[in-house]
Amino acid sequence: MKITDHIKNANGKTLFSFELLPPIKGHGIQGIFDAIDPLMELNPPFIDVTSLREDSFYKERDNGLLEKVTYRKRPGTVAVCAAIMNRYKVDAVPHLLCGGFTKEETEYALIDLQFLGIDNVLVLRGDARKGDAGFIPTPGGHTYATELLEQVVNMNNGIYLHEDHESFKTDFCVGIAAYPEKHFEAPNLKTDFQFLKKKVDLGADFMVTQMFFDNNKYREFVKCCRENGINIPIIPGLKPLTTAKQLINLPKIFHIDIPEDLSDAVQACKNDKEVREVGIEWMINQCKELKEIGAPVLHFYTMGNAEPTKRIAKAVF
Ligand code: FAD
Repeated sequence: MKITDHIKNANGKTLFSFELLPPIKGHGIQGIFDAIDPLMELNPPFIDVTSLREDSFYKERDNGLLEKVTYRKRPGTVAVCAAIMNRYKVDAVPHLLCGGFTKEETEYALIDLQFLGIDNVLVLRGDARKGDAGFIPTPGGHTYATELLEQVVNMNNGIYLHEDHESFKTDFCVGIAAYPEKHFEAPNLKTDFQFLKKKVDLGADFMVTQMFFDNNKYREFVKCCRENGINIPIIPGLKPLTTAKQLINLPKIFHIDIPEDLSDAVQACKNDKEVREVGIEWMINQCKELKEIGAPVLHFYTMGNAEPTKRIAKAVF
């Protein structure tokens, strides 16, 4: 079922969902099931599976010359989605990236998804490869999520890269990423917002936000969207802080602020066990408030660690 229909059918009740990463290449699916099993009692209507571009690094060859090597450490997004749907009978939402894929490969991936009965996709530009200074588009691929979104919307209208598919229409519900605290490459919130609006005007059906620890950022963002005629569901993305190191790492990696009260509380902890409690408590309060203000779904970035998410969701739902 489409995420927009799940939200509609919930009649204003906030839903619970989460995302996880595909396993490292060569690992089995059991690790994924172990991460999902504890969360199934919370009835997620959908589960996201991220997609990761290849890493790039230099390897010294026998002749002493350096050669650039690229490989995907965590392939398998589509197969993991199929395994999840098969086992749990819930919707699986694959993340689709510009980076690492040509337009042809994207088209074939979308055809596979249609055959698998997958109704939703989250379209993203993708992060830069490890080892690259910034995002480098794949030759023959897309540069921005707007372009990838257009490709999916085109297929929903029966328009393919080549004419031979004309009569076959897909029917994907398409999600996009949003950044209440601005995407780090955008010069300012206004410019970033204009591109977000472009994605919505092109046909995005829902958005999922970057994580945030201050609900005011979400509130202001939703207000700004509604004032600018953006009326699609805005799903908050959430991650509990669980280690002291994350005070530095989360802002560095995800370009977000940690509120002073939270960082003070973390700094007062004697060890990570205490930090975990502080982080979980903070997130429980955040979630209760988000529910009150009508967030359609609370979507957790579990990173394969179900326990904190389970505790939070059990306290909130
Ligand atoms: P875009 O919408 O393309 O925006 C990128 C930048 O370009 C922004 O600064 C924007 O303002 C600007 N911009 C946008 N459109 C245009 C345009 N047409 N012309 C000029 N500038 C433009 N990464 C992964 O690798 N795998 C994942 O599975 C993944 N899942 C994610 C899930 C969520 C919910 C979120 C919030 C992020 C996720 N990311 C993932 C990270 C994401 O790929 C990065 O943040 C990436 O840097 C930007 O992706 P985007 O889709 O927002 O890009």
